[in-house]
Amino acid sequence: MAYSLSHQELISIAGEFGTPVYVYHAEKIKEQYEKLVAAFEGCNTRFFYASKALTNINIVRYIDSIGCSIDCSSINEVRIALEAGVAKENILYTSNGIDFSEIEAAAGYGVHINIDSLPNLEKFGKKYGHGYPVGIRLRPNIMAGGNLKISTGHDKSKFGIPVQQLEAIKKIVAEHRIFIRTLHLHTGSDISDADVFVKGFEVLFDLIPSFPELEVIDLGGGFKVPYVPGEKAIDLRVLARKVKQSFDDHQLAGNKSLQIWFEPGKFLVSECGYLITKVNVIKDNSDQVFAGVNSGLNHLIRPMMYDAFHYIENISNPGGPLKRYNVTGYICETDNFATDRSLPEIREGDLLVLYNAGAYGFEMASNYNSRYRPAEVMVREGRARLIRKADSFDDLLRNQVLLP
Ligand SMILES: *Cc1c(COP(=O)(O)O)cnc(C)c1O
Repeated sequence: MAYSLSHQELISIAGEFGTPVYVYHAEKIKEQYEKLVAAFEGCNTRFFYASKALTNINIVRYIDSIGCSIDCSSINEVRIALEAGVAKENILYTSNGIDFSEIEAAAGYGVHINIDSLPNLEKFGKKYGHGYPVGIRLRPNIMAGGNLKISTGHDKSKFGIPVQQLEAIKKIVAEHRIFIRTLHLHTGSDISDADVFVKGFEVLFDLIPSFPELEVIDLGGGFKVPYVPGEKAIDLRVLARKVKQSFDDHQLAGNKSLQIWFEPGKFLVSECGYLITKVNVIKDNSDQVFAGVNSGLNHLIRPMMYDAFHYIENISNPGGPLKRYNVTGYICETDNFATDRSLPEIREGDLLVLYNAGAYGFEMASNYNSRYRPAEVMVREGRARLIRKADSFDDLLRNQVLLP
């Protein structure tokens, strides 16, 4: 686990911008991207950043600037990418459960589209026929990922068209002569086992002969990053080797070479992010000591939503004697960030940093308890700059309609 901003830098950012604050280190994202590129060198591969992990327009623009494409989960994410200046050829919209009008909107923008239901595929065929190359999101019926909530390819999952409906897909495709460019699957998040991707591959390989115009196999995202010191990330070299091997094993008709797409979210932005909080109160209940910080599940919901582990440091007193704490938020709801965690002695006013806060942190933040969402700061070339203001009281009332 490599955190690239020092305690001193984080303390100075907290001093300048206040707390709570989300901080993102741009160069760390680049480092992660370069790991992907290096591991898959020699493979015909393209990476699309799953922007739902962190959609601040400056982050999207930065990721575009380092040569990575952008994957979107809603039409508004497509609009943010366009707003950031990303070329339409470098934007992919992987839809699920959406109204057909959003697919029409995406086609209007000219971006790549993956369709995930038979009804939308049918509507797409009727409207665009052979004229707009498109992808199909399939459900491979594979269990993968850190836990059930973040597993998306299993045989009870809502995502994708189940592979056993292949005949129905083929019928629609044939009827409207749909240009199927891509077969897509995304099995889940926090995947540490390269074999999961290979299994996905194997499922897709069987389908390739059914789609002669195929150009792309899209294996989705979900690469695991370390959350606990000492924990391992997915081994990209092993993954790349297995992917190459699988491709070599399956010689395609006419030696046609398929491009492989991936959609990493977490892998690119998890470790670049820090949530800096300040300790409001120490509550010593003799059997347990609570350190209550000026944040909560309104800012970072992953611990309560996914039982996610976020490494925490007391950057105000790193050398203090170790004691055990429950680090909690100020929301009127049980919102533990950590339970019975050993940390250097925590005092009122200390700064606690939650690591791996880049992915699904700010992005899932809310105004619950009428609290403000925090500011976001981006550090690039050693300079810390504000990229989103914290909410203000006006923001809380902005869209409310006061009846006379
Ligand atoms: C969320 C998502 C991803 C990214 O998942 P990570 O675990 O953040 O890598 C990729 N593809 C699709 C379709 C997604 O919905």
